Amino acid sequence: MKTILVDPSLCIQCCDCQIACKDEHCDNDWSPLAAPQEEGQFWIQVREKQVASGSRMRQERVPVMCQQCKDAPCIAAAQAGAGHPEAAYRREDGIVIFDTDKARGCHEIMDACPYGVVYWNDVLDLPQKCTMCAHLLDVGWERPRCVAACPRDALRFVDTSELVPENMYAPLEHLHSEYETNPSVAYVNIPKPFIAGEVYSPTEERCLDDVSLTLVNESTLQKWNAKTDYFGEFKIEDISDGSYTLILDKEGYEGKRIERLEVHGALNAGSIALYRTPC
Ligand code: SF4
Ligand code: SF4
Repeated sequence: MKTILVDPSLCIQCCDCQIACKDEHCDNDWSPLAAPQEEGQFWIQVREKQVASGSRMRQERVPVMCQQCKDAPCIAAAQAGAGHPEAAYRREDGIVIFDTDKARGCHEIMDACPYGVVYWNDVLDLPQKCTMCAHLLDVGWERPRCVAACPRDALRFVDTSELVPENMYAPLEHLHSEYETNPSVAYVNIPKPFIAGEVYSPTEERCLDDVSLTLVNESTLQKWNAKTDYFGEFKIEDISDGSYTLILDKEGYEGKRIERLEVHGALNAGSIALYRTPC
């Protein structure tokens, strides 16, 4: 069984994948696997977001398509709804398909997807999404069009048996694993929230290196430790969204505790002043 492995850190947002998808599916009818893609749909979409600010701003790009879930809410909705029970189904090769005839009028299918990758075709009265180019794979193509178009290997078509830690250059992840849909599409290097800033001494007019930092998640109490570098800068990565307390400590200086730092995607904590301990 094969699936797409996505590495957002390699994506340069050239959008070749989106163009290839449109070339394959707009004005082309691959029924019963895929009806022509309507204008304005993106069966693969490079979702971009800017996080943090100033010199610490990060541009994130994450290619997103149907995750080909093994516990697919769209299939469950089709089976529970008033429409045809086979309107959505999972093939033996793991690809989730919306039947271009049986899925007509079945809005429950689109509403059930937590990833927001299903579009409604008003003309055909049909939910539509990525089929992993199943019509091409069925006639011997080795990979979907988006994967073939990617110049950076940010998208790769891999055998699922290869997706084991020994083979991976980064930990294997799933997009929004909290949705609990058991996706087949796999990711590495999904951008994670971070907090960054710099520490300086206003009275000495210099940046402060080797400052000990402790970051505490105010809900879970999980802690991260770091030190400022030669330029007084710090960056604590791979945290999660939430509210944090940052504790700063350096010998010869008054310690500092900053509470309620809200991280949504990332946070530039800015320039933090430490003052010499009075003699
Ligand atoms: Fe269904 Fe959405 Fe999962 Fe695709 S990503 S299988 S459309 S629930
Ligand atoms: Fe990113 Fe590859 Fe798509 Fe270009 S083709 S936008 S590099 S995923």
